[in-house]
Amino acid sequence: QAKANGRGIFCHYNADMQSAADHRIRLEKDLAHGIQSGQLRLLYQPLIDASNQSLTGFEALVRWHHPTRGLVPPNDFIPLAEETGLIVPLGEWVMEEACRAAATWPEHISVAINMSARQLVLPSLPATVNSAISRHRIQPDRLELEVTESVFLEDSAGALDVLKRLRALGVGIALDDFGTGYSSLGYLNKAVFHKLKIDGSFVREAAENKETVAIIQSIVQLARNFRMTITAEGVETADDFMRMKDLGCHQIQGYLFGKPMSYDRASELVQGAPMRMSA
Ligand code: C2E
Ligand code: MG
Ligand code: MG
Ligand code: MG
Repeated sequence: QAKANGRGIFCHYNADMQSAADHRIRLEKDLAHGIQSGQLRLLYQPLIDASNQSLTGFEALVRWHHPTRGLVPPNDFIPLAEETGLIVPLGEWVMEEACRAAATWPEHISVAINMSARQLVLPSLPATVNSAISRHRIQPDRLELEVTESVFLEDSAGALDVLKRLRALGVGIALDDFGTGYSSLGYLNKAVFHKLKIDGSFVREAAENKETVAIIQSIVQLARNFRMTITAEGVETADDFMRMKDLGCHQIQGYLFGKPMSYDRASELVQGAPMRMSA
């Protein structure tokens, strides 16, 4: 009886696992093909100087236009790309595309790209980055690499070494999504990060929670002592903007100043199309 039951459960579970595995294999094949056949696009979200609301640069955010599934958001394929190793060719495409865009914009406009932990452990990464910025003739400090604390979870010594070599090239390194996950203050003191990005969930929570405001205040103080630039992500309302500016954030990113947009629209902004506060 128990045995039959167990087998029944096992078979059912197994069938689900099988279809999940099939789905994954198919998506993986599609993604590999999609990277090669030009189905990826980069969108660019404005980064704003909090003091005068001028445009300082963009964060590049990848999108996948799947021929039958339509637009697939990064949270639905970046994890798969990380698990399968496809993040390496994907990341190289992103870097190439972002540098190509940056080369068409003025010197004071920076471009940030997101890097996965898996890319950070490639000892060849600094050479790849150096080759991209040289080929496109962009100043190293115009390129920023955004990483999250998860880079320190596995091979932390290896990741730290690669980060230091990237820093030595003169590119910027931002600690992304601060306030989620582990958020160990210890990482701030590693002399590799030039920028701290406070996660949007944290920024929005500050609207309702005084303790969150107090925590942000201490983080900003600490980061300022380390001479880091502080960016508030996910700023959606004029209140969010004023709050984060008053707390000492240097830079603002969020729907209030612009959603991720096409290269063409971003270029118009660079050319001085008016920046509208949408709230
Ligand atoms: P992230 O690097 O923290 O990027 C910020 C995310 O917040 C983006 O989501 C952006 O569209 C969204 N966002 C910006 N402003 C607001 C706002 O005011 N309100 C709200 N609710 N959301 C806002 P997106 O584009 O879906 O990207 C999600 C994540 O996917 C990124 O988070 C990043 O971790 C990852 N990602 C995106 N592009 C790449 C890439 O090229 N390579 C890698 N490795 N990861 C990427
Ligand atoms: Mg980011
Ligand atoms: Mg972020
Ligand atoms: Mg994020």
